[in-house]
Amino acid sequence: MRVFDRIRGQGYEQVVFCQDTATGLRAIVAIHSTSLGPALGGTRFYPYPDEDAALEDVLRLARGMTYKAAVAGLDLGGGKAVVLGDPTTDKSEGLLRAYGRFVDSLGGRYVTAEDVGTTQADMDLIRRETEHVTGVSVELGGSGDPSAATAFGLLWAMKAVAERLWGGSSLTGRRIVVAGVGKVGSNLVRHLVEEKAHVIVADVVAAAVERLVQTYGVESTAVESAHAVSCDIFAPCALGAVLNPMTIPELRCAGIVGSANNQLADPSCAKLLAEAGILYGPDYVVNAGGLINIAAELSPRGYHRDRAYAAVAGIYQTTGMVLDTADSAGITTAEAADRVAERRMDELARVQLIRTFG
Ligand code: NAD
Repeated sequence: MRVFDRIRGQGYEQVVFCQDTATGLRAIVAIHSTSLGPALGGTRFYPYPDEDAALEDVLRLARGMTYKAAVAGLDLGGGKAVVLGDPTTDKSEGLLRAYGRFVDSLGGRYVTAEDVGTTQADMDLIRRETEHVTGVSVELGGSGDPSAATAFGLLWAMKAVAERLWGGSSLTGRRIVVAGVGKVGSNLVRHLVEEKAHVIVADVVAAAVERLVQTYGVESTAVESAHAVSCDIFAPCALGAVLNPMTIPELRCAGIVGSANNQLADPSCAKLLAEAGILYGPDYVVNAGGLINIAAELSPRGYHRDRAYAAVAGIYQTTGMVLDTADSAGITTAEAADRVAERRMDELARVQLIRTFG
């Protein structure tokens, strides 16, 4: 890949290649933007087929973080890192701590967190080399696993979507299909049961479904057809690209709010959803709860769960604002999310031109 050509187009600030022969570390840190603050984004540890695939992934993910933080109203930029390798065989204390030193060398321009293939325990090790890491354990002053906060944010996003669809934010009696009941999905189910919604779950892991059926008395459905179940809200909480030209005509829901990243197979799918009369809560708007929660670790007052969760609940207002923008501008909700993010970045870039002295 011609790296400068690739990064120029979408305005990336910095791409850092890190290697440590002794531990086998090969990592790439991509900082898309620091215009709103330090670039926060997780470290993905993944056995990429080649270096181009790793670079493409880290660039795509870093840019996504810029938009996610901007729309969430955070004073954070967007970045991401990838470690090339198999987390089950290549991860070691030495490798993670070497990586931590590279993160430290960026002086806070990039702040890391956990992602696919990395854990809270890994963040705790990285913390021994740098303070520019979030998602560390509660004992180290961190906020722990972000999944519960992500689920709490989804609940509030669903309320915003319900408000637009039915004129009230209550989810009581609403049929909601949760496809994927891992860390986020299972927490979401708990909230929805508390809201007295009618919940239907699906997962490729039968035991995960069974546990929720036993605990909460929810219904279950087959994974292959979960998206086609007639319901009020469909919540994709497993894989990306679940909304594509094959599945969209089969959807029988009024709204979509789920945690999965990159739910749209491509941008044109947002239009297909709008044409089908389905209100789509853009993925990076509705699933920002985990990011908002770990960002609270950077507060000068330290992490405080109640304050952090109050900020996460703000996803209700943010989602509403994005849906209103789509309505008034006659654009899709996905386009509206990008527009809200870009508007905020432009506005604050201008504010930063106001100089202060002394
Ligand atoms: P997880 O691995 O704990 O859960 C994913 C679940 O989906 C698993 O139970 C898995 O068995 C199931 N699954 C896999 N393929 C499936 C399929 N085809 N149909 C139905 N279920 C399937 O992951 P998670 O942390 O709960 O995250 C879920 C999604 O949300 C991911 O896409 C993740 O990137 C995204 N996300 C997570 C967070 C977070 O805080 N954890 C934040 C933002 C976005």
